[in-house]
Amino acid sequence: MAAITRTTQGTAPAGAAALLRLPLNGLNFGISAMVTPVPTATMEESMSSSAAARYEAVIGLEVHAQLATATKIFCGCPTSFAAPPNTNVCPVCLGLPGALPVLNRAAVELAVKAGLALHCDIRAQSRFARKNYFYPDLPKGYQISQYDEPLAERGYVDIVVDGRTKRIGVTRVHMEDDAGKSIHDGFKDSDRYSYVDLNRSGTPLIEIVSEPDMRGSGEAYAYLTEVKQVLQFIEASTCDMEKGHLRCDANVSVRLKGAAEFGTKVEVKNLNSFRFLKQALDYEIARQVELLESGGRVMQETRLYNPDTGETAAMRSKEHAHDYRYFPEPDLAPLRISAAWLAQLRASLPELPARKRERFVADYGLPEYDAEVLTATRAASEYFETAARVSGNPKMAANWVMGDLMGMLKAEGKEIAESPVSAARLGELVKLISTGELSGKLAKEIFPKMFSQGQAAAEIAEREGLKQISDTGALEKVIEDVIAGNPKQVEQYRGGKTTVINFLVGRAMKATRGQANVAVVIGLFKQRLG
Ligand SMILES: [Zn+2]
Repeated sequence: MAAITRTTQGTAPAGAAALLRLPLNGLNFGISAMVTPVPTATMEESMSSSAAARYEAVIGLEVHAQLATATKIFCGCPTSFAAPPNTNVCPVCLGLPGALPVLNRAAVELAVKAGLALHCDIRAQSRFARKNYFYPDLPKGYQISQYDEPLAERGYVDIVVDGRTKRIGVTRVHMEDDAGKSIHDGFKDSDRYSYVDLNRSGTPLIEIVSEPDMRGSGEAYAYLTEVKQVLQFIEASTCDMEKGHLRCDANVSVRLKGAAEFGTKVEVKNLNSFRFLKQALDYEIARQVELLESGGRVMQETRLYNPDTGETAAMRSKEHAHDYRYFPEPDLAPLRISAAWLAQLRASLPELPARKRERFVADYGLPEYDAEVLTATRAASEYFETAARVSGNPKMAANWVMGDLMGMLKAEGKEIAESPVSAARLGELVKLISTGELSGKLAKEIFPKMFSQGQAAAEIAEREGLKQISDTGALEKVIEDVIAGNPKQVEQYRGGKTTVINFLVGRAMKATRGQANVAVVIGLFKQRLG
């Protein structure tokens, strides 16, 4: 349980005058105490792959997620991200003497739901505790967290790596308040001062601590993906990593494969994107193996990941839990969750992503991969299900959602929730293809128009005369013309080279601007040519 990561470095925001300015000299900011890393650019190349193969990594993750409440955890200040510096503050979140915290019920509900969704046991009584440490962006001089009586314990997350399901234990989920934000650069005098914005102070967080069950960066990546997805599905957190709503630290050690004991663990901080998580873990695992192979010893320490270099560097030797002088928070009563409240929260949970994936495979016959893509977000899964229902052809609906729709959304930088084509409209388009009223080719022409003009497929098809021609009578003339105009191919076909029919069909399709029903055209050719 480490201190909240305070290493997010922002640039000077507008209204910077309202920031608190603190001199750097005399204050240990952790980051300034950073040690230059050993040059290791060629580490992986220099280490023989056979050496690396003899080791396995042991990884546990600590994930901090900001709960999606409108107000802070112990006061009524808004949690909005974009407010000018030091404006969303009051005596409670400024830590002024005599101010008393009042627990936000909405934050508790989201935390309990997160605990349930991560398959944890929820304690009937949990307790807040003070975690004492000094930092300029922590005006109280302590964080209100939970220690020996956390809200939720003993859960798990199932991940799928290389087609194999693995269960990763969740040790605990506890609630805590966030610190403010230190801004170390972006100002003219950033070489001498750091700035503090306390808008974030008192924002509700949950910390999700995993068991050391992951054995490589791929598993850690899959675990964080699943946790993020679950929290988003239940709307406990937006998990917007760019805004710091989801932050991740890792405990990493390596050991020889088959060894019973864990190696010395290093805490790696600042893993604030999925890419950084993977890069930092790969780097750190290689560094530790290299160190052990060369006869060295891994130091128990906290290391900071530097995204610019892709390396981790020592930040400070690891604090021990007792350094924080945890004790029960005297200003808050124990948190009691009644059985009735718990049941009510459990009943309010939506279908979770893992269950949804299984159902998409079982009910709609989708491949695992498609089910995974379509359940990546709750919005995507709901969009797909509506389109599937309206179309009556789930597989084709899945292809359209994953292909044309997601492609166009991506090109315009839009989320599925902002799609100009509603799920029902896409479903109608798929239905027209499914029933043979539109060819796939015509649908591909119509869809971009639906996207840009916001009209229904049938409307566009009607207006532009793009209906599929399935009427044999209307196609007879076209077939006759093609046969008359291509005597050589007709002769080849009759001579036994039946693949030439594709050429003739192509001609017929061209003559009808792609509107002819291919199946009908093929049938007519075969009939005519014997
Ligand atoms: Zn406040």
